[in-house]
Amino acid sequence: MAKVMIVGAGGVGQVVAHKCAQVPEVFSEICLASRTLARCEKIAAQLPRPIRTAQVDADNVAEMVALLRDFQPEVLINVALPYQDLNLMEACLEAGVNYVDTANYEPPDVAHFEYSWQWAYHDRFREKGLLALLGSGFDPGVTNVFTAWALKKHFDTIQELDIIDANAGDHGQPFATNFNPEINIREVTANGKYYRDGKFVETKPMEISRIYDFPEGIGPKKIYLLWHEELESLVKFLRPHGLQQARFWMTFSDNYLKHLEVLQNVGMTRIDPVHFQGQDIIPLQFLKALLPDPASLGPLTKGKTCIGCHIKGRKDAKEREYYIYNICDHEECYREVQSQAISYTTGVPAMIGAMMIVTGTWEGHGVFNMEQFDPEPFMHKLNQYGLPWKEVFL
Ligand code: NDP
Repeated sequence: MAKVMIVGAGGVGQVVAHKCAQVPEVFSEICLASRTLARCEKIAAQLPRPIRTAQVDADNVAEMVALLRDFQPEVLINVALPYQDLNLMEACLEAGVNYVDTANYEPPDVAHFEYSWQWAYHDRFREKGLLALLGSGFDPGVTNVFTAWALKKHFDTIQELDIIDANAGDHGQPFATNFNPEINIREVTANGKYYRDGKFVETKPMEISRIYDFPEGIGPKKIYLLWHEELESLVKFLRPHGLQQARFWMTFSDNYLKHLEVLQNVGMTRIDPVHFQGQDIIPLQFLKALLPDPASLGPLTKGKTCIGCHIKGRKDAKEREYYIYNICDHEECYREVQSQAISYTTGVPAMIGAMMIVTGTWEGHGVFNMEQFDPEPFMHKLNQYGLPWKEVFL
C-alpha cells in the first residue's frame, strides 16, 4: 500500500490517474497535481474513488517540495512535460520521493533531448537511497522492456533492432497531434538519427522511409525513420550483445506530413521568440493553442495503434528473426478511461513502472532506464493491465 503523486493532468495524466485508481491494493492514496486545478478536478470526477487534487507549478522546486512533504507519497509519476523533468527530480531528492517519468529532459529553448542531463543525477539518487525510473511510457518504456525480454528469453546476441510505431487510427480532424502538440512537432521536425556499426548516423527529417506490413489487419503502411530517445539507452545496453544497427520508425499520413510541411514553411513551428504587437510569442506555442487538445480526441478516434520491436540476431548459433508487439484499440481505451490509445499506451506503463518500485519488484538506488531491470514482472503486468503483447518468430 503506497501513496502516489501524479504530476500533469493532460491526456497521459488522465490515464495514469484511472489506472492507479483501479489498483487500490497497491496505490492506497492518489494525489493529482498540475498547473490547472480544473483539469485535475475534471479527471478526479471520472474516477471510481476519491483522490486529492492540487494546483502546482512543477518548475517551482520549493512549491513542489512543500506539496510532496505534505502528501508524503512513496513515488511521483511525472506526466507533465519534458521541460519539468530536472526540477521534479530536484524536488524528489529534497523530499525523499522515488521518481518515474515517460520522456527525457528537453530544454525549452532548444529542440534537443538526451539522457545525459538526467543520468547526471545517478549519484545523488543513489546517495539518498532513492530510485528514478526514466522513460516508463510505451516508446520509450515498453519498447525497452520488449528488447530486454527478447534478449533474456530468445536471443544470445542481437544484431538489428527496429522499433516500429504505427498509429493506424483516425480522429477525423484536418490536423491534430495525439500527444502534446509542442513536444510532438519538435520531435518530428528534428533531424533523424540511427545507430550503425559503432556510430550514430544523422539524416534529414523524414529522409528515410519504407513500407512495413503490420499484423492483425492493419496491413502495409509507410514508416519514417526518426531519432527517438530509447535508442540512446538501448544502444548502450545492447552494444555488449552484438548490436550492429538500431533504428526507430513511425507512421505518418500524407495529410499530416503535408500540413506539417506548410506549417514549417511559414515559420509556425519555430521555437524562438518573435516580437508581435508589443510582446514576444513563440510560434510553436501559439500553434499549440490553436490545435485540438489531444485529450479532446478521445471520443473521436477510431482504429488501432501497433507498437513493437522487430529484432534480428542469433540463438544457439542459428539466425533468428522475431517481432514482438502490442495492438491497442482507440475506442476500447476510450470506453475504459475516456482517452485515446496514445495516452493509454503511455499511461498504463507509467502506472506499472510506479508499481514495480512501490512493491519492491524493481529495486535500486540511482537513476535507471527500463532495460536495466528484469523484464519478466513488467511483461506480466502489461497483460494484466490492458496492454497484452504477442510475439512471432519470422
Ligand atoms: P499534455 O500537454 O496533454 O499534458 C501535460 C500536462 O502537464 C498538462 O496538464 C499541463 O498543464 C501540465 N503541465 C505543464 N507544465 C506544467 C508545470 N510547469 N507545472 C505543472 N503542470 C504542468 O501532454 P500529454 O499528456 O500528451 O503528455 C505528457 C507527457 O507524456 C509528455 O512528457 C510527453 O512527452 C510524454 N509522452 C510519452 C510517450 C511515451 O510513450 N513514452 C508517448 C506520449 C507522450 P495545463 O493543463 O495547465 O496545460
